[in-house]
Amino acid sequence: MSTLTSVSGFPRIGQNRELKKIIEGYWKGANDLAAVKSTAAELRAKHWKLQQAAGIDLIPSNDFSYYDQMLDTAILLNVIPKRYERLAFENQEDTLFAMARGYQGEKGDVTALPMKKWFTTNYHYLVPEVEPGEEIKLNSTKPFDEFNEAKALGILTKPVLIGPYTFLKLARTDQATELEYDKGLVNAVAAVYAEVLTKFNELGAEWLQLDEPYLVLDKEPGDVELFKTLYTKILAAKAGVKVLLNTYFGHIADVYETVNLLGFDGIGLDLNEGREENFEAVAKYGVASNTTIFAGVINGRNIWRNNYATSLGLVDALKQVTPNVAISTASSLLHVPFSTECETGIPVDDLKHFAFAVEKLGELKEVAVLADATEDEKKASAALAANQALFDGTRVATDPAVADRVNGLSADDYVRQPAREERQKLQREALGLPLLPTTTIGSFPQTKEVRAERAKLRKGEITKEAYDEFIKAQIDACIKHQEEIGLDVLVHGEFERNDMVEYFGQNLNGFLFTKNAWVQSYGTRCVKPPIVWGDVSRAKPITVEWSAYAQSRTDHVMKGMLTGPVTILNWSWPREDITHEEQTKQLALAIRDEVLDLEAAGIKVIQIDEAALREKLPLRKSDWHVKYLDWAVPAFRLVHSAVKPTTQIHTHMCYSEFNDIIRDIDAMDADVISFEASRGDLVVLDAIHDAHFETEAGPGVYDIHSPRIPSEQEIEERIYEILKKMDVEKVWINPDCGLKTRGNAETWPSLEHLVAAAKAVRAKLG
Ligand code: GLN
Ligand code: ZN
Repeated sequence: MSTLTSVSGFPRIGQNRELKKIIEGYWKGANDLAAVKSTAAELRAKHWKLQQAAGIDLIPSNDFSYYDQMLDTAILLNVIPKRYERLAFENQEDTLFAMARGYQGEKGDVTALPMKKWFTTNYHYLVPEVEPGEEIKLNSTKPFDEFNEAKALGILTKPVLIGPYTFLKLARTDQATELEYDKGLVNAVAAVYAEVLTKFNELGAEWLQLDEPYLVLDKEPGDVELFKTLYTKILAAKAGVKVLLNTYFGHIADVYETVNLLGFDGIGLDLNEGREENFEAVAKYGVASNTTIFAGVINGRNIWRNNYATSLGLVDALKQVTPNVAISTASSLLHVPFSTECETGIPVDDLKHFAFAVEKLGELKEVAVLADATEDEKKASAALAANQALFDGTRVATDPAVADRVNGLSADDYVRQPAREERQKLQREALGLPLLPTTTIGSFPQTKEVRAERAKLRKGEITKEAYDEFIKAQIDACIKHQEEIGLDVLVHGEFERNDMVEYFGQNLNGFLFTKNAWVQSYGTRCVKPPIVWGDVSRAKPITVEWSAYAQSRTDHVMKGMLTGPVTILNWSWPREDITHEEQTKQLALAIRDEVLDLEAAGIKVIQIDEAALREKLPLRKSDWHVKYLDWAVPAFRLVHSAVKPTTQIHTHMCYSEFNDIIRDIDAMDADVISFEASRGDLVVLDAIHDAHFETEAGPGVYDIHSPRIPSEQEIEERIYEILKKMDVEKVWINPDCGLKTRGNAETWPSLEHLVAAAKAVRAKLG
């Protein structure tokens, strides 16, 4: 028997984002639901056939989704809050979209389910909400329909579902429901999965994959029991169909022994992230005789070519423990772009180093074939030789000057002088700001007009000069408006930027850009991260001219606006030949140059956004510091440590879930931080209080993700709530995040209310 190949999941948005386009068309009323369904079916068929053609044995189905697979799982289990059911849509799809995006129309008015990041990825899932007394039952035929659809095409797929443990751990349940964890809810959920298993058995499925990424997290009391209870019940229903328990994004060493004893037919292990721990566990506890280990060797999180020699070594090592080894992707391929085929802009010599989803299918198959080959066959293998050559040659653009600069850094470069308390005094004098200073996060609405002008420049329809004049006029108008409504610290509005990461990448050495390498971020939204292709340095000043221009147009303080090194790396495809730490240092030095140039150009307040700092916080608490914060936080300090004491450094984060790393945030040693806070419950303020947080802070006073205009009184109340927990001297007043995605119609009145509220509170404080 040759080695089995298995794909955990495939991108569903389509090579040219066909799914995005047809679904958005449906939302706008440009096409009907039937058109959406037919495009969806075409995409599924295309993706299955691609995998079949690549020789993949276990091809996933039900990895398709109109929006999100967590949401699909909620609907499958009938976990649909009453407020959505009350809308009484005829189609399940419309209920699904209402849960995903909210609904406002003739049937009612409901907000969407909350969205959260899927583990350490930039993919967002919808958080299911289990209402007390919810009737859990099998409520959808989607997994079966898609299985049958593939079967009709002659492809026997492996259906994939998010497992019950991950589902329950990520779903929101109220306290009463939580108490029922061991009774009603757990039994009911297990019963539905058992029913699904039985059904697939009848339909003739050979394998069923249950994804349990939550298993790679630290366990809370009761977690292992919960897992065992669920799977004991589910596996009892197992007849012919084999069950693959799939894990990814880390290791399951702490529960491997338990998992191994439960009688799964397959256990999927991530051999990229958590490789050593997973290996140790397998070596220590062995593998049950009827269980196949699915060795996740093809990275689903990055786009560099697989190193076959390394993968084969891993497979060989596993084979020392068990003969039953299959080869798999380490996670779903959802998190990588579709195919390198469209990237005609990248020289072939560079492009050959990358494998997107389609190319990864080829890698998976080749590794499997080589795993079965004799030593002689391996020696004669052209595929292996070609792969080896990729790693023997130069893979990236290196620059000795960058390496020298990094090696020349000393401990002092990471420390800003004098201490923050002293700086804050000096800055207060130098900047002359009132108590409760008002500001915004940087961007102002990117209107159609702004985007159209950028498109014209790209297509060569207007000159760079004409474009720059246009942007200057935007800046002028934006400044005037900010002055009129009375904001204290102004911004230029970021009209010249397409995206906060790509814009910087385009102006740094060491980056490559793709044309069509889209990855789903949430729903129909996709992102196109740049590739770190070599050593990074700053080619020339990036933002200085714009900021200096803006400052020249006003007597107010103008805030310079930069993206921080950790965020740039986290939202790019990182190199694999050097560590993330090393790459972040290079980026930090490049942004440091920009900071110092901004300062020299007369900019007194500089904001360095770290919107994605928390995203890559390791999943296991014991790794937080050693594997991440211990270098990510110093990298931020490296960016700003050389500025004058009077230059005020701000940072911004798009979330407020940092209670548990509050001291690390403070250790970034910024003078001011703004963060999203209006949707959350403000528990972070308690943490700020308890930790004696030193950084001045602006907890967002209104939600910019909604077109709603907050009233002055509402904001005033919010400010008083903040003042209950924070020293008034340390409080800033600002919205939650940048205003880029908003319209001018709601932005300006909202900001007027914000300024008025701050003034009212100041007056009362006397
Ligand atoms: N300065 C950026 C803006 O205002 C920050 C964006 C973000 O935090 N995601 O758009
Ligand atoms: Zn933000």
